[in-house]
Amino acid sequence: MADLLLPTNTIVHPDKDRFLHEENPFEAMMARFDRAADLLDLEPGLYKVLRNPEKTIIVSIPVMMDSGEVEVFTGIRCIYNTSRGPAKGGIRFDQNVTLDEVKALAAWMTWKCAVVNIPFGGSKGGVICDPLKMSIGELERVTRRYTAGIIATLGPDSDVPAPDVNTNERVMAWLMDTYSMHVGHTVNAVTTGKPVAMGGSLGRREATGRGCMIATREALAHLGLPVKGRTVVVQGFGNVGSIAAELLQAEGCKVIAISDRTGGWYNKKGIDVKHAIAHVAEHQTLEGFGGGEPIANEQILELECDVLLPAALENVITTKNAANIKAKIVCEGANGPTSAGADAILDDKGVFVIPDILANAGGVTVSYFEWVQNRSGYYWSEQLVNERLTEIMVNSFAEVLKLSKLHRVNMRTASYMLAISRVATVHKLRGIYA
Ligand code: NAD
Repeated sequence: MADLLLPTNTIVHPDKDRFLHEENPFEAMMARFDRAADLLDLEPGLYKVLRNPEKTIIVSIPVMMDSGEVEVFTGIRCIYNTSRGPAKGGIRFDQNVTLDEVKALAAWMTWKCAVVNIPFGGSKGGVICDPLKMSIGELERVTRRYTAGIIATLGPDSDVPAPDVNTNERVMAWLMDTYSMHVGHTVNAVTTGKPVAMGGSLGRREATGRGCMIATREALAHLGLPVKGRTVVVQGFGNVGSIAAELLQAEGCKVIAISDRTGGWYNKKGIDVKHAIAHVAEHQTLEGFGGGEPIANEQILELECDVLLPAALENVITTKNAANIKAKIVCEGANGPTSAGADAILDDKGVFVIPDILANAGGVTVSYFEWVQNRSGYYWSEQLVNERLTEIMVNSFAEVLKLSKLHRVNMRTASYMLAISRVATVHKLRGIYA
């Protein structure tokens, strides 16, 4: 398959001939975008429109810390594209947040919503801070001031956040309350991933991990491998990784290694995932878990296994280690875990990669269900949520697979082609407002 792919280490669009900086997430996104745009023969005008975010806001967030001192954090919100509907995208609290990372994540949200064909555009937000070193009160003040700073973009019809790395239901509750106080009435559809008690959807917390499980199941079926007995390695044991691990284990897979920022654990007889989840609930991390032998995060990726599920951060599979990946399937729970340069190496090795914009789309799909439920004021059972999620994941996987066979490209390029064509179609229909 590799010979059918275009070179991955350069940008291929004629007027954008430049080298790729492997670890820059925006360039990594653009490299894939360019490849798909070329194969689609995307009009130059549309190409220019789609390679630029619509709007990016950077705000200073002054916060009174518990110590009595004032700290000023930086917050970013990028609205990448709203042609298909309101912008949708999570908020990340992390000390390594950068403008290019937020832009890339916002673009990926745009393509992701289009791949699973839900009527949203894409956005993303980030605050440069270390939430693990902050108190609950400090986190609340950061959240509320950040929300106030970007309030002009927010709204159920304009931009709808959700949780991402180091943010959760509680952060979404503060955001929803701050927005509601500003507009003078309760607006629960301004964000998704809220606590169920205040309009969150049943099944949302598990949705991204569940979507990864479903995508993995589809990939195994495509490769003619039974689910039962497949060995699984999961990097990142937060919302996405822990739930994907638990659900894959429930399907009969053997989870042989897990890890988080404190390191990993390997057990060839199988990790007790429920025990690991209980450990993290009590101690916050996997440190001291002890359900196997300790293993380094870099090593975990190179273990012999059927399914590797990176569910932490970007750029963990790069040109430096891609040749050592032994998994048959890589299911990208995280956004951007594979660099563009690593794509061709994995293709050469025959690794079947379920790309992030398809694999982890379960989260935004149930976010869409949450938004629909909030707006209609009518709430669904968890069973209905899961059935509708399964239908969308299974159909989207099949559509991407069909396109990948038709154009003889890998699943990533096929996903981008599907997404870009859907977004481009709407741009063409809408035309340019002048
Ligand atoms: P989270 O904060 O709940 O968990 C992140 C996990 O990654 C934690 O276990 C953390 O310890 C671990 N981690 C951090 N740095 C690491 C490192 N260097 N090595 C190994 N592990 C490390 O975040 P999450 O919501 O599970 O998100 C994980 C990834 O999935 C992110 O890329 C996010 O953008 C993506 N994602 C999340 C959702 C969602 O609904 N939460 C949806 C789509 C995509």
